[in-house]
Amino acid sequence: MEEYIARRLKGLEVGEEEREWLERAVDFHGHLCGGLIIGVRMGLLGLKELGVRRAKGEELLAIVENDTCAADGIQVVTGCTFGKGNFIFRDWGKMAATFYDRNKKRGVRISISPEALEKMREFREMIHKLLKEKGNLPFEEVFEEVRRELSGSNLEKKMEKTLLEMDDDKLFDVREVEIEAPAKARMFASVICEECGEAVMEPRARLKLGKIVCIPCLEG
Ligand SMILES: [Zn+2]
Ligand SMILES: [Zn+2]
Repeated sequence: MEEYIARRLKGLEVGEEEREWLERAVDFHGHLCGGLIIGVRMGLLGLKELGVRRAKGEELLAIVENDTCAADGIQVVTGCTFGKGNFIFRDWGKMAATFYDRNKKRGVRISISPEALEKMREFREMIHKLLKEKGNLPFEEVFEEVRRELSGSNLEKKMEKTLLEMDDDKLFDVREVEIEAPAKARMFASVICEECGEAVMEPRARLKLGKIVCIPCLEG
């Protein structure tokens, strides 16, 4: 793993802290990619802007506006995770995330800057072009094809270099936001589904002709 990271980051200017977090993120995510780099850097900047540490509990919240590789980088760095309930997904397809400190009731939204997008224009245009060219393929093959064309390419290397070396204030736009903090995760008792015998959280249990069942058994 260390060898893989060393090879991928060779010749690039990456700070010590960032490198360590990239290693941990790759360990979790499985590979290094542009999205992961963005997520790691966004997460680090979020912690810095709020002046907080990685979350042990629910004191910090991440609201992520896309479900790309970046989401994994953010989870690793900030400790806001799907399982803890302090990682919230908004399906808006935007490369942005809001970090919220419950203690100080402060939130910052971080997004990719227009300047960074401009620097990656060539890469983005190539994706457009490839998607157009491969448009007649079944969609599950398109992703593989695009990945094959771009992985290890000079365009990809250039994009990763931009994402790793641009200063925070150039790469991202940061602004304070006022948000209503979502409710904390709740704990529920569970009941036993009368069809499959598995335990199910009470508020997710359903009634089917008078029997208590889980959702898959209701719908199955
Ligand atoms: Zn990835
Ligand atoms: Zn069931």
